[in-house]
Amino acid sequence: MNVLVTGGAGYIGSVTVKHLLDAGHQVVIFDSLELGHVEAIDPRARLLIGNLCREEDIRSAMRAVRPDAVMHFAAYALVGESSAHPGKYYRNNDVGGINLINAMLEVDCKRIIFSSTCATYGQPETLPITEDTIQDPTNPYGHSKLMLEEMLKWFAKIHGFRPVFLRYFNACGAEGNLGEDHAVETHIIPNILKVALGQKEKFEIFGDDYPTPDGTCIRDYVHVTDLADAHLRALLSEFTGAINLGTGRGFSVKEILEAARRVTKHPIPASSTPRRAGDPAELVANPAKAKKCLGWEARYKDPEAIIETAWAWHQAHPHGYGK
Ligand code: UDP
Repeated sequence: MNVLVTGGAGYIGSVTVKHLLDAGHQVVIFDSLELGHVEAIDPRARLLIGNLCREEDIRSAMRAVRPDAVMHFAAYALVGESSAHPGKYYRNNDVGGINLINAMLEVDCKRIIFSSTCATYGQPETLPITEDTIQDPTNPYGHSKLMLEEMLKWFAKIHGFRPVFLRYFNACGAEGNLGEDHAVETHIIPNILKVALGQKEKFEIFGDDYPTPDGTCIRDYVHVTDLADAHLRALLSEFTGAINLGTGRGFSVKEILEAARRVTKHPIPASSTPRRAGDPAELVANPAKAKKCLGWEARYKDPEAIIETAWAWHQAHPHGYGK
């Protein structure tokens, strides 16, 4: 298939691009390179540099590529930042998103695999989270993703779009020379590993007064290789609708910290700080639908195995890509 991948120079996008190419698909990456990395781009893929917020960029890319399907990764994705700057998130994720959808319509491309998120659910009353759980986000990031899901549902009804909403839980880990490198790192595992690398004095636990057994937030950590695998399955399937991508198992911030201490054999000093705005206490997927509809199941289920892959990448790239 001929696949246009927005955000293909980013973390999950770049790993999925590799899987697509390995499987024999043609890939054109559309990326602004604002947050993506040239070094993460597979040389077998073609790169079009452009910004989704500039309508003409994506319209001309779409006309040039005429893809069979789009995988849409490009987005801002930080809960904390979105809670301080909502407008930045709505502009990039929703204005950019509708520009993408309109450009797809112009070339009659109706298959889209969209990177959605467990942040669309907010803090549900019952866990684990199924795809039918009410979506009531606790931060603008989650809401910006939910809005694009809603728009795509109307395009499905009115124009025959066939969207898949892959609602990722907490993406983590690395695959070979592809890993997680953000200009300002806010994610838990890279921040823990920075302490083990001697780049940060201590790890900050954002809140230890949550209503969880050890007081820290619980998340479902899903490996980037597993996420990429789910995208390929979605692409080749006839499925449309929402799918949770998680392991079905939750781990607290303190449990992840302990796992990282075991993997790195570093004491990783840590202390607790106040809660971060927008963080729900506990998010864990019920991944049954992914298994039923895509035959997908996370192969990485154990935080130590996940952190080992991330640790290998961070040791090989202590200052990130190209530095
Ligand atoms: N977290 C933390 N310290 C950090 C980074 C994250 O305690 O330096 C916590 C955060 O509050 C959340 C969990 O780790 O409960 C996962 O956060 P992350 O930013 O990795 O992913 P998110 O859940 O926001 O998508």
